[in-house]
Amino acid sequence: MDNAALKARFFEKYHGEEIRNCIQCGSCSGSCPLAPFMDYGPRQLFELAREGDMEDALKANTMWLCVSCYNCVVKCPRDIVITDHMYALKKMAIGEGIQAPGAKLPDLYEAFRGPVERYGKITDIQVMNRYAFRHPVDAMKKASLALKLAKRKRLEHKVYPVKNLVGFKKVMTKARELEKAS
Ligand code: SF4
Ligand code: SF4
Repeated sequence: MDNAALKARFFEKYHGEEIRNCIQCGSCSGSCPLAPFMDYGPRQLFELAREGDMEDALKANTMWLCVSCYNCVVKCPRDIVITDHMYALKKMAIGEGIQAPGAKLPDLYEAFRGPVERYGKITDIQVMNRYAFRHPVDAMKKASLALKLAKRKRLEHKVYPVKNLVGFKKVMTKARELEKAS
């Protein structure tokens, strides 16, 4: 999909058209605790998207670092729900298979998503194992920390699914159907 098509998709399917109201004041980036670590702060990210440079926007680590603190939303003078757009851009990046070469955060999210879909919950071990499969060197670097946590019984091995797993899976199926239909 080219940049123009990606922009149209973001604006129409993911309600990104709201960012047309952005006045580039920078209050979002200024209030974001993670901005110093982001490739682009929210202000710049929206400018890229608005200009149609969607591939660059989707390759950024910005939305993956967002911790949904809503500081930016509180500060935005145009009432743009910035956090929602971060989720939308994450979904788009996954859906379009676009990510920066070597980006690890999407894999961490994927490691988290799998057990949640299966059990409605995660355990640290499940997430770590799934992530380690894709990034074994990272896992080796953290092995001593994992051992320390295990010794202190801070690593949960056993999986305790949510009580109503059948109901939970129905919700997930419905969510997927709605996603496809939208
Ligand atoms: S919600 Fe996300 S983008 Fe907004 S301030 Fe918090 S971390 Fe930054
Ligand atoms: S705070 Fe709102 S208006 Fe200002 S740059 Fe961020 S998104 Fe745009």
